[in-house]
Amino acid sequence: MIYPANEESLRIAAAALRAGEPVAFPTETVYGLGAGAFNPRALAKIFEIKGRPRFDPLIVHIAGLETLGDVVDLEALAPGVRDEVRRIGEAFWPGPLTLVLPKLPSVPDLATAGLATVAVRIPVHPVARELIRLSTGAVAAPSANRFGRLSPTRAEHVAEQLGDRLEIILDGGPAEVGIESTVLDMTDRPRILRPGGLPRARLEALLGPLPVSGLPVSGPSGELHSPGVWNSPGLLTSHYAPRTPLYLHDSGEMAGLEYREDEGYLFFSRGHGEPGDRGGALEVLSDEGDSLEAAANLFAALHRLDSLGLRAIHAEAAPPQALGEAINDRLRRAAAREP
Ligand code: AMP
Ligand code: MG
Repeated sequence: MIYPANEESLRIAAAALRAGEPVAFPTETVYGLGAGAFNPRALAKIFEIKGRPRFDPLIVHIAGLETLGDVVDLEALAPGVRDEVRRIGEAFWPGPLTLVLPKLPSVPDLATAGLATVAVRIPVHPVARELIRLSTGAVAAPSANRFGRLSPTRAEHVAEQLGDRLEIILDGGPAEVGIESTVLDMTDRPRILRPGGLPRARLEALLGPLPVSGLPVSGPSGELHSPGVWNSPGLLTSHYAPRTPLYLHDSGEMAGLEYREDEGYLFFSRGHGEPGDRGGALEVLSDEGDSLEAAANLFAALHRLDSLGLRAIHAEAAPPQALGEAINDRLRRAAAREP
C-alpha cells in the first residue's frame, strides 16, 4: 500500500526494515526497494520480490559520510585513495553518485554478489536519509521494479509492478533526478561503470578525464555481460525495458519516420520535426532540450507510452552532453532484445 511519507509512516517503515521486511521508499534517482544491509534474510526477500538474479549486486544506502566506515573497509584503501574518496564524498554526497569500494566482512555476500567490494551511496532525498537513520543505518536498495523492467520514479509506478508483493510503499513525490546514480569504481583508478544522474563532466572537473566502460550500441545481447563491464556484474545489455518493443533513433532518423496510429514516439526535445498532437502516443522529454529535465521525465514518459498497448515505441537519442549520456545508456538497454 502507498503511504504518504510523514513522521508516522516513516516510523512504521523503519520498524518494518528493522524486523527484516523490505520497504519501498523515494530517493532522488528512482524509488528504491530497501532492506537492512546487514540482514541476509531481508536481502534475499529483495531478490525474490524483484525476480532479480543473485549475481546482480545491490547499492547500499547510508545517511552520511560519518557512517561510510560501517560498510567500507577504509583501511584497505591506499591513503591517497582514501583522501580522494573523502574529497569526492564531500563534493557530491548526498547525491546521485555511487562509489564501489572494498567491503567490510559484515556486509553479506548477497548484497555484493560475492564480490570483495560494495557499492555505496548517500541519497539526497530527506525521506530516504531519515528512513536509513531510523532503521538499520545502512539500507541496501535496488530500484523498486520487477527485474529488467522500467524504473519507478513515482510511488504509483512501484505499486503497479510490486504492489501485490509489498506491504509498504512510502510516497515522497516524483523523483527529482529520475535516473539511476552514476557508478564510479574507486578500487583501482577511478572509472565510471555506469553513467547516471551525476554528469561525467562534474566528476571530471574534480578527478580529470575518466574512462567509461564501453557498451554495445545495439545488436543481440547473446552474452549476459557486455564486454568491458565484466566487473560490474549487474550491468546487462537488456534492461530498463518497457513491454512494448522500443527502437532508438538519432534525430535525423526520427524526423524521417512515417507516423502510425499504433506506434508511440518519445522525443528528446521539440524542433526535430515531431508531428503535432498525437494524443497520448507522443512524449517530449524537454521542450527546450534540457537534459536534466529530460532525465526527470524519462521513465514516467516510458511508463505512459508502455500503458497504451502500442506495437512499438520510437525514441530519439539525446545529445550526449550532461545527462544525455545516461539517458542514451538507458534507452540503448531498453532497446536491446533478449537473446
Ligand atoms: P541498481 O540496479 O540501480 O540497484 O544498481 C546496482 C548496480 O551497481 C549493479 O547492477 C552493478 O552494475 C553496480 N554495482 C553494485 N555493486 C557493485 C560492485 N561491488 N562492483 C561493481 N559494480 C557494482
Ligand atoms: Mg534497477
